[in-house]
Amino acid sequence: MSGKFLVINAGSSSLKFALYVMPEGTLIVNGYIEKIGNLDSFYTLKWNEKKEEKRKQIENHTEALQTMFKELLEKQFIKDISEIQGIGHRVLHGGEFYSNSVIIDDKVLQNIKSLTKLGPLHHPGEIAGIESMKKLMPDVPQVAVFDTAFHQTMPQENFMYAVPIEWYRDNSVRKYGFHGTSHKYITESMQEHFKKKDVNLIICHIGSGASICAVKDGKCHNTTMGLTPLDGLVMGTRCGTIDSSVIEYICKERNLSVEEVNHILNKNSGLLGIAGKNDFRDIEELANNGDEMAQLAIKMLRKSIVNFIAQYFVELNGELDAIVFTAGIGENAITLRADIINSISNALGVELDSNANNSVASFKDKKSGVISTIHSKFQVIVMPTNEEYMILKDTFELSQQLKEKDIPKSYFIKK
Ligand code: AMP
Repeated sequence: MSGKFLVINAGSSSLKFALYVMPEGTLIVNGYIEKIGNLDSFYTLKWNEKKEEKRKQIENHTEALQTMFKELLEKQFIKDISEIQGIGHRVLHGGEFYSNSVIIDDKVLQNIKSLTKLGPLHHPGEIAGIESMKKLMPDVPQVAVFDTAFHQTMPQENFMYAVPIEWYRDNSVRKYGFHGTSHKYITESMQEHFKKKDVNLIICHIGSGASICAVKDGKCHNTTMGLTPLDGLVMGTRCGTIDSSVIEYICKERNLSVEEVNHILNKNSGLLGIAGKNDFRDIEELANNGDEMAQLAIKMLRKSIVNFIAQYFVELNGELDAIVFTAGIGENAITLRADIINSISNALGVELDSNANNSVASFKDKKSGVISTIHSKFQVIVMPTNEEYMILKDTFELSQQLKEKDIPKSYFIKK
C-alpha cells in the first residue's frame, strides 16, 4: 500500500525537506528553509510547477520543522501527521558505528550525539530534527543515512593517519570520508550499467564540496576527504590537502586563533581564496575574460582532481571500468571535464569523445552518458547524483522491514 515518507537534510543553518509517496517514488512537495537563526530567514516551497517563497524569522531547527508541518497541513499535502509512515534523515557522521543506514532508536541517537565532536556544525541541527520528530510522532520510524557509511570498507592502511596510535584509539582520529550517499548511488547505478556487482570505479563528485572515491569490487577502497570534509581536493571554499604546519605558522604570523584559521580553511579558501569567487560558473566567466587568478584557481582544481585520479588508478592496479563525473561541476563543467580527460589521456589510455562530452549536462537534453571513445581502456561517464533518492529508498526499505518483522512500534523508550 502507498504511504507518505519525509526526507530531511539539516545543514548548520538550513533545512531541506521533501515529501514523497512510496513505493511509487512520486515527489509531492519539497522545501528549503534558509538562514535559520538569523533575522532574515526565509523558505521556499516547490510543488507541481508552483513555487512559493516566504520570509519568516525562524530561530532554530525545531521551529523550522514546525514551519514545515504547518505548510504541509495548510496546503493539504497531508491531512494529518499520522499519514507519514517514515522519516529519513541525512546524518553527516556515523563514525565507526555505521556502515549502513539504520532505524534510529535511543542507542543510535546517543551514538549520533557522541559524534557531534566530529561534526560540530551539522550534528546539532540533525539531532534537533530527530528529537523534534521523536516528540511529535514517536511511533513513526526514523532512519539515519550517514555520509560516512559507504567508506567504512576502506582498508586500514588507507584510513589511518601516521600519527601516534593513541590519537586513533582514544580520540577517533582517522580518515572517514564523506559524500558516501552520492558515491553509493553512483556505484549502484554503475553496477546496473555494467551488469555486474564487482565494478572498479573512480567517482569524481565535484560540486561546491568535492571528493573522489576509488571503488574496488563495488566497495569503497579509498577516498579523498578525511576526518572532516576539509581534506583532499581544492573545493569551492575549502583548501583541500595542505601541509598541516601551515596552521601553526599562520596563527603566529597573522595573530589568529586555531579556530579562526580552521574557519578560514573551510569557508574562505579553495576557489574563493584564490579567485575571490566560489561559484564555478562565475570563475569560468572571469577566466574567459582573462582574469589570471580565476585561470589559476581552475588549474589548481584540475590538478588536484588529476592527481587523485592518477593515484587511485594505480591503487586499482589499472583495472578500471569507469571514471564517473557527478555533482554540480562534474555534471556541467564541459571544458573542465575535457581538460581533465586530455591530461590523463596518454598515461591512462583513455580518449575523450568531444562531441559526446559537449552534449551532456544537466542544462542539455542529455543529462548522462559516456563521453569517452570506444578506443579507451575504460569508460568515462557523466551521471547526475541523487542523494535524496538514496535516503528515501533506505527509509522506505528499513520501515518496510520493521513492519514485516512486526517489531513493537515505539523505537524510543517513552519517558
Ligand atoms: P553542487 O554543490 O553539487 O550543487 O554544485 C555546485 C557547483 O556546481 C557550483 O560551483 C556551480 O557553479 C557549479 N555549476 C552548476 N552549474 C554549472 C554549469 N552549468 N557550469 C559549470 N559549473 C556549474
